[in-house]
Order: sequence, then C-alpha cells, then structure tokens
Amino acid sequence: MSPNARSHADYTVGWVCALPQEQTAAMAMLDERHESLSKPPTDTNAYTLGSIGQHNIVIACLPKGHAGPNSAATVATQMVQTFSSIKIGLLVGIGGGIPPKVRLGDVVVSTPDGQFPGVVQWDLGKSLEGALGKLESKHELEGSKIPDILEEFGKAYPQAAKQYLNSTSLKDVLFKPNYLHICGKRTEDIGEDDYLGEYGASDDDNDDGEEEDDDEEGCISCDPSQIVRRKHRSMRIHYGLIASSNTTIEDAEFRDRLNKELNKKLLCVEMEAAGLMNSFPCIAIRGICDYADSHKNKTWQKYAAAVATAFAKELLGCVQSSDVEGERPIRDILNEVKDELNQINRDIKAGFGETKKHLDNLIEVQKVQKQNEALEWLSSIDSAPMHHDYIKKCEPGTGQGLLSSEELQQWMNVPRTTLFCPGIPGAGKTFQMAILIDYLSREFRHDDTIGLAFFYYRFDRQDAQRPEQLISNVIKQLGQHHQPSRERIQGLYEDHKKKGSRPLIEELVHLLQVIASLLSRAYVIIDALDECGDNDYSRTRLLDSLFSAQKKGLNICATSRKVHAIEQRFEDAIKWQVIPSENDIFSFLDRRMAQLPDFVQSNIPLQEEIKECIESAIEGMFLLAQMYIDSLVD
Ligand SMILES: [Zn+2]
Repeated sequence: MSPNARSHADYTVGWVCALPQEQTAAMAMLDERHESLSKPPTDTNAYTLGSIGQHNIVIACLPKGHAGPNSAATVATQMVQTFSSIKIGLLVGIGGGIPPKVRLGDVVVSTPDGQFPGVVQWDLGKSLEGALGKLESKHELEGSKIPDILEEFGKAYPQAAKQYLNSTSLKDVLFKPNYLHICGKRTEDIGEDDYLGEYGASDDDNDDGEEEDDDEEGCISCDPSQIVRRKHRSMRIHYGLIASSNTTIEDAEFRDRLNKELNKKLLCVEMEAAGLMNSFPCIAIRGICDYADSHKNKTWQKYAAAVATAFAKELLGCVQSSDVEGERPIRDILNEVKDELNQINRDIKAGFGETKKHLDNLIEVQKVQKQNEALEWLSSIDSAPMHHDYIKKCEPGTGQGLLSSEELQQWMNVPRTTLFCPGIPGAGKTFQMAILIDYLSREFRHDDTIGLAFFYYRFDRQDAQRPEQLISNVIKQLGQHHQPSRERIQGLYEDHKKKGSRPLIEELVHLLQVIASLLSRAYVIIDALDECGDNDYSRTRLLDSLFSAQKKGLNICATSRKVHAIEQRFEDAIKWQVIPSENDIFSFLDRRMAQLPDFVQSNIPLQEEIKECIESAIEGMFLLAQMYIDSLVD
C-alpha cells in the first residue's frame, strides 16, 4: 500500500448511483482515483474511491438489474456503516422529466425538504445547504460550469466521451401526450438507420440488466407531425419535486395526471430517492433522459448521466472542506437520534407511505383502466342483455332436465370435453342454454380462475358472427375477471395499438389457448350453431379454432338443429337431446290457462282437455304449445 494511503475515516462524501452508466460517469468526474480499502464481510457493496477537489468520495452502485428504492436503501445503509465519516450524501443519476418545464439534458435537483407531504426534514448540514444556495446564485450570475466540466471529461476520456458527450447530435423530441410510440424500423431510410446505429444500440446497452431492450430503435417510425413544436433553449437546472415509484413510468397521460395530483409541482420521476428518505439524508441529482412516456428509450441516458454527475462535481466545488469537518457524520446522526429516528421513520413511513400509497393507487387505477380499454378493444359484443331476456321468459321450475342429467355432470367435471345438445326447432334449446349459463355463472361467481363464455347465434346478429369476432368475444368473456388473463389481453392490445392493426385469427386462437391454460377451467357455450352460416366457411373456421384451443383446456357446449354437417363435427361429443319434458309442457300450459277466456277458466275439465290435446299435438315442439295458446287467446 502506498504511504499516502487513506483510511475509511478520510471519506466524507457518499455517492450512490443506480445504473452502470451512472457509475461510469461518476468515476469520470473524479480528479483522482484511490486504492480500495477493506470492508466488513457483511458489506456487499462494491466501492470506487477517489476525490474531487478537497473531498474524498465513496461511490457505490446498486447491484446490476436491481434498480429501485429498497435496493438503494440497502446500499446506502451499508455505505454509512463502513465509511463512518460520510457527512454528505448524494444520489446521482438519470430520471424522466415532466414537460413542458423540464427538457432532455436538463438537471433536476431535489432536497428532502418536505416536498413529499408529511416527510420530516432532514438536516442536510450547513455545508451542503450553503453550497446549494451559493451555486444557485453563481448560476444566475455566471452560468453553470457544467460545459467546462464535461469538456474536461472529454479530454480525460476521449473514448468514453463518444458515447457520453454527443449532445449536439441528440435530438430532443417530445410527442403530444396522446400520441403513442410506434414500434418498428424503417429500413429504407438510410439516414435514420445511421442515427440508430450510432446512438440507439451501442454495445454497453447490453449491460443494463433488466432495462427495456426492446425500445432500442427509438422513434424512427413515429409520426413527426405529432411532435410538440418548441423553441430551442439551453440546458437548465431545476430545484424541486422528484417522485419515486417502484415501477418505471412510460405513459404520458399518467405522467401528466400525476403532475396534476401534485399541484403541477412535479419535475422528475425516478425509482430510487424514496428508498433513501429514511436511511440516507441526501440530495438527489437527476439528469433528464426521457419524458416518462411510451417513446422512452435509452438514447439520452449516458449524456444525461454525464450532465448530472457534472452538476454534482460543480456542487462539491462549492462545499468548503473545513465546513464539512464541523458536520456530524450521517451514521452518528442516525445513531444519536435512534429513538427520534424511529419516530421520524414512522412519520416518514406514514407520510411518505401516504404519497407512495397514493402513487400506487394511481398506478393501480391506471392499470385497470388500460386493461378495460383492452377488453373493449378486443370485443364490443355484449350477449348479457339477450341472456337476461331469455332468463326472464323461463318458467320457474322448468328446464331442469339438462341440469339434473349425468351428461352435464360428466361435461362439467371432465376437462376438455364437449357436450352437444341437438334438438328440433322449438324444442327449447335456447332456454336450456340460458338455464345452464345462469347455473354456471352462479355456481362459479366467486372463483376468478374459472372462465365462462357464451354466445347466442341469431340471423340478425350477422355483424357479430365472423369467427374472429366470436373468438375475440370468447377470449374477453373468459379472461375478463382473471388478472393473468387480463394482462395477456392487454399485451395483445398494446402490440396492435402501436401498429393500428387488428389480430389475425391465428393470434386469437393462440391467445385463447394461453388463456385456457391459465384458467383452472373454461366453459364455452354456443347456442344455435345452425344459425351460423358456412358459405364463407365461417362455421368451419369457428369450430376449427375452438377445437384447437380445446386441447389447452376448453369445455365446449353447443346446441343446434339436426344439421348433418354440424352433427358430424360433434361425433365424439357427449350428447344430450333437447326434448321438452311432459312436466315442463304442463307447467307451461298451467300458467297460460289464466290468459284464456273466462268460460275456460271456470271450467276445470275443459282446461284439462285443452292441455292434453296440445301436449299430444306438439310432438316435443315447445314453440307450438305457445302458438296454440296464443290462437286460443285470440
Ligand atoms: Zn416514439
């Protein structure tokens, strides 16, 4: 070890970053790099030591792929335990900016000064607070030193500078909030591809762990007419509110709503600062690399990281090391006020918890809205009103034949089975299905993992009878109350929304298969298949699709008149003939007697005779009974 080696106690500035490119930029800001020091085995951080001006600095980065508040808290806590003299805490990196105030390449600085409602103020120490004040005035008078600092960076590390300092060739593009990103690459446009090659997909981007790699192509397919026109302005530094969340925000409308909820004071969104609020008094410095919308990509990340670290360097240049000496170490503050801290932590948790809960609620509401939007996009057919109509017309106590049959039990309990219910016209097939649907929806109403879909085919519903439409509707009905299925549906929606397209039948069948396998059970009931025409192979394609998805777990039930082509498709199915029971016919006729003329109503033997007559005449055609009664009423 060299004679001028330093000890842990010499380090007074703790610098936390979340991403490898933030750490690279931080290292580039050091005037000197120091040899590493020992650390306790319990400390899992990897430290970089060095100095800026008179300050000795410890840099620690969150483990790869573990961005987020909890990880930040762990890293910071270990850091102040191992380096017990740390008096100044910095969280430096990138974040999403809130337009129109904030632009790409700007810097947002947040100090924990009660910006989150209910959060107790940390004393940052006079040295740092003084420096912040001094720097703000200096900037007003002389402008920022950031360009000079970046120039030094470029001279010291010309290789890295190509990636970190290419600001002149970066384009600051803000799209209108309601215009969504379009995926895809315009290969014929060579100019755009050059742009892509240089900034979109550099080698280092693969090092970013879980970061989104699919957005690498940037906005080459997005419509330039949707860009918000703005006058050029130079880089700015903002002081104010930064909001943290556990998930990345990539939604302009949500971003703007969040800003509105926070009284339009929001400048930046990121993922770590919240984790440090109760374990590491620090200021957060964020270089802006995107607008937290669907167009978010990595193009600006390295430059934004460089700008944020340059600001941190400039800030440290304003901190007198003699002032820092007089400050209490962060660890001691945390220890000394342990009891108070517990209380503060409770307050912070309560206070910040409220904001966080608020944010989480907003995110949850947003998620549900998006998923509902996806369901509505998938299919707008609603068979429920028709179903309720049939149920209302059912005679109480009738139509129990299917429900009490062994065939139904077998169909319900054995996965991937088919139940086929043929019947002559007017036998009451539709009523049997309405009763079955009613029964199943009651039986399974508390179990979200069981899906139920039904559809009544009618000649007058031609518009909704194409196989694509029916399969879409079946998917919607099966998955609408089941979270994992909703997410899959939303995935399909997002893919197509970007392209403005509709899914092909193959995609729909695939999704139906996925949902069938996600659900514990999935029942699909189709009434009156014979009313689905087959001139254009609609019925054939529908049945092909359903039977192919059935292998993944569908239980299919269908009714039809006796049509040979249809019966052939259901050769292997469990069969249950729809024939109205004598009991059903009599109880139907009993109720209708009240509609007949007075002289019939007063003559019981005559009523019995009418009932017998009708029953033997209709030959199992329920509809006829109704027609006979109607003719008698007239
Ligand atoms: Zn875009």
